[in-house]
Amino acid sequence: VKWTRVLPGLLGLAGAVLIALPVEAARLQSWRFDTRQNLLTFTTDTRVQPRAQLIFNPTRLVIDLPGTTLGQRTNNQRGSNGIREIRVGQVSDQTTRIVVEFEPGYTVDPQQVQVRGQTDRQWSVQLPPLQRVDPTSAPPAPTAATTPNQVSNQPVQTAATRIQGIVATADGFFIRTRGEVPEVRVERSTGGPTGRQITLDLQNTAIAIGVTPQTLPVNRYSISSWELTQVSVTPPVARITMNLGEGSPDWKTLTSDIGGVVILPDGVAIREVADAGEQSASGQIVPVPAPSQPPRPAQASPPPVATPPRPTVPSGDLPQIQNGRFLVVIDPGHGGRDPGAVGIGGLQEKQVIFPISQEVAALLRQQGVEVVMTRDQDTTLDLAPRVSIANRANADLFISIHANAISLSRPDVNGLETYYYSRDGARFARVVHDIVLREMGMRDRRVRQARFYVIRHTSMPAILIETGFVTGAEDIVNLRDPAWRSRMATAIARGILTFIQQNY
Ligand SMILES: [Zn+2]
Repeated sequence: VKWTRVLPGLLGLAGAVLIALPVEAARLQSWRFDTRQNLLTFTTDTRVQPRAQLIFNPTRLVIDLPGTTLGQRTNNQRGSNGIREIRVGQVSDQTTRIVVEFEPGYTVDPQQVQVRGQTDRQWSVQLPPLQRVDPTSAPPAPTAATTPNQVSNQPVQTAATRIQGIVATADGFFIRTRGEVPEVRVERSTGGPTGRQITLDLQNTAIAIGVTPQTLPVNRYSISSWELTQVSVTPPVARITMNLGEGSPDWKTLTSDIGGVVILPDGVAIREVADAGEQSASGQIVPVPAPSQPPRPAQASPPPVATPPRPTVPSGDLPQIQNGRFLVVIDPGHGGRDPGAVGIGGLQEKQVIFPISQEVAALLRQQGVEVVMTRDQDTTLDLAPRVSIANRANADLFISIHANAISLSRPDVNGLETYYYSRDGARFARVVHDIVLREMGMRDRRVRQARFYVIRHTSMPAILIETGFVTGAEDIVNLRDPAWRSRMATAIARGILTFIQQNY
């Protein structure tokens, strides 16, 4: 990736952040959430006395470890059966926080959460079975003042750039754009609902139709809300306003020549930036006994609550996935100056895979999956930026779509091949390959391991699918046929959705 500016500054910054660890603090050594038992366990190197509370909107159990630092960033863990995810972060330089966030419509009785210290360094938090709540009833007392996201759009005829969305990533936020790299003007002010705002004015930029308040991040990284406004139509100027929550650091932007704007905290590490509303939230306190005490006597134990079903709503022919939970990156294998393989009759690989990729993206979006394409147009793109788009966006899955070629003298070679590199990639490849094979009735040229760059350097389960041979006498007929390509797109989408359903 060629970041257009500031990369040297960034490296300098990372060096500076690492100093500030207090000497006597405990360190969180390990943590684990057992999804089958709803049991969180964690260990620190010296004594801690955790505090726990249940906070709403979204509903989550927050466990603070005062006087504790997080040695290194740890990955979020995805939950199941009503638990959305478990994440661990540093809320201040003295406190590590573990958050167990529930899916909408689920909660627990805080009185039944059992926090126990086996020793003063080894703790466990046993959650009771989750309870379903009526999602239409108001949650108990919304906490910190969170104002909703807003988008006000206006039709713009011509703009060099369009904003496609904003996502939270592992190191900040990413504004997805298409078109040219926008010029960004940044201003800081004391206005807005929280009294601190940063506005980013993107010149010659419009807001895409699909960007709605619901698609913007909620309470992530100390930003209490986002506002997108088309402040001017001629010339088009799109304004992104970040309303900074309590404890929010300053933020800076970097534009990248692969499209998009990166927003990073200025002067602090992202792991020190708490989610908005958690800093000062007042929830229901979960009683925590001193360590090494016997557990609280079981009160008249409640009737067992059946494990709630996986919250997916089947609709239509393709599996429906709960909105916004999954991000899939789709990589059309070739484009722009790079036509890919050229086959019988001069058919170019890019002519085949681009429409398939776009249809896969549309189908996934319809079924509730967030999709990032490594490119939205017929443009040239190196391998490294494709990987960095996926890794930066923190995607759940990556799929690169190709068509195959051997030699024009081998029209007898036809069929489907799917490649993976990692073990998780292998499972993903198996599911997609089998479904495409079955639905398309193609020759099976099998699932194979390979060291292709885009599947080797991506940090999520990643596959590369070869949808047929542009040099094959059988496949070429199909690859030229728009109706066949639509069926292929549907089969690939079904494979991806099925893998998500089976594994998350
Ligand atoms: Zn290719």
